Amino acid sequence: MKDIFEKVIENESLNIKDYVEILKSNDLSKISFVADYLRKKDVGDIVTFILDTNINYTNICINRCKFCAFYRDIDDKDSYVLSIEEILKKVEYARKFNVTQVLIQGGLNPEIPFEYYEELIKKIKEKFPEVNVHAFSPVEIEFFSRNFRMSIEEVLQRLKSVGLRSMPGGGAEILVDNVRKKISPKKIGFKKWKEVVIKAHKLGIKTSATMVIGLGESLEDRVKHILRIREIQEKTKGFTSFVVWTFKSGNTELKLREISPLEYLKTIAVARMMLHGIIKNIQSSILTCGVDVSLLSLSYGANDLGGSLIEENVITATGHKKKTLLEEDFVRIIKSINRIPAQRDTFYNILKIY
Ligand code: SF4
Repeated sequence: MKDIFEKVIENESLNIKDYVEILKSNDLSKISFVADYLRKKDVGDIVTFILDTNINYTNICINRCKFCAFYRDIDDKDSYVLSIEEILKKVEYARKFNVTQVLIQGGLNPEIPFEYYEELIKKIKEKFPEVNVHAFSPVEIEFFSRNFRMSIEEVLQRLKSVGLRSMPGGGAEILVDNVRKKISPKKIGFKKWKEVVIKAHKLGIKTSATMVIGLGESLEDRVKHILRIREIQEKTKGFTSFVVWTFKSGNTELKLREISPLEYLKTIAVARMMLHGIIKNIQSSILTCGVDVSLLSLSYGANDLGGSLIEENVITATGHKKKTLLEEDFVRIIKSINRIPAQRDTFYNILKIY
C-alpha cells in the first residue's frame, strides 16, 4: 500500500485497480493523511458553505427510477406542479435567511410548456436579482430537448438568455450504464449526460458534478465514475465541485444496505486523490450523512459542506429527516474543529470569511 500512497502524493498516474485498493484499505490514518494533505494544497484551511434552498417545481415524472421516492404519476392524489407565484413565495421566504442560490429541479413532466421554465428563471431574476438560479439537471435538459423538439444547444441557449448561469450536475448517480440500466432504465445513459454537460460548459454554464453511492455499484464503478468526471473536467473546466451523496432507500423500490460512514469517508478521500488539481472543491453531504460524518469528511479531503437547504423534498421523500443549517450553525460547527468558515456563492467565490 505504501507505494500507492506515495504515488498519489507525487502525482503519478494510478490505474483503476490502485484506487479500488485504496477504497478497500483499512489504513485510515494514511488515507486521511494523504487526502488531507492534498486538500490543503488545493484549497487551504477554509471550509465553505452556501446559503440556499431547493425548490422542486413538480413531482410528476415519467422516468420512474427505482431509487426515487419523490416521483408521482400524473393522476396520483399527491402529484403537483407549482405555479410561478408559489415558487416566488418560496424564494421570498428563503431570502429571509439570506440565501444566494435557489436550486430548482423537478420531475420529467410532459404537461409543462417550455415557456414555464423560461418564465420561472426570468421572474426570479427580476424579483430577486441578487439570487443565482441554479436550475435543471442534465436529465431535465435532455428531456426538454426531446419533449419540445429542440436541440440541446437551443434549450440551453434559451434558458441562458433568460438568466441561467449554472446547473446542478444531478441525475448522474453512477455514470456506468450497467448500473444505470438496473436502477433507472428510462434515464439517460452516460453518453447523453456527458453530452449535455459538455454543451452547457461550452456555453459558459457551470455545473457541479455529483455521485450517489450505495446503489448496488461496485468499488470499480465508483472509480470509473470519478475518472469520467475527471476526463470531462480536463476538457471543459466547467465543473465547480464534486459532491458525494449516499443513497437513502426509504419508500423506494430498491432495498439495499446503507453505506457506512467509513465507506463514505474513504470515497471522499479517493475523490480528492483522483481530482486533486483538477476539481478543487469536494463537497460532503450533510443532508444524507449528517453533521458528524460531514465534519469528519473535512479531514478526509472535503472542503465544502454544501448548502442550508431551507427546503428539500427529494431526499426527505424517503423518510430521511433533514437538518437545516443556517449561517450561524455553519460558522459554529466549522469553528468547533478549528477550521475557517467562509460563505460562498454558487461559483465558489468567497462572500464572507468568519
Ligand atoms: S430520480 Fe428524477 S428522473 Fe428519476 S424518477 Fe425521480 S424525479 Fe424522475
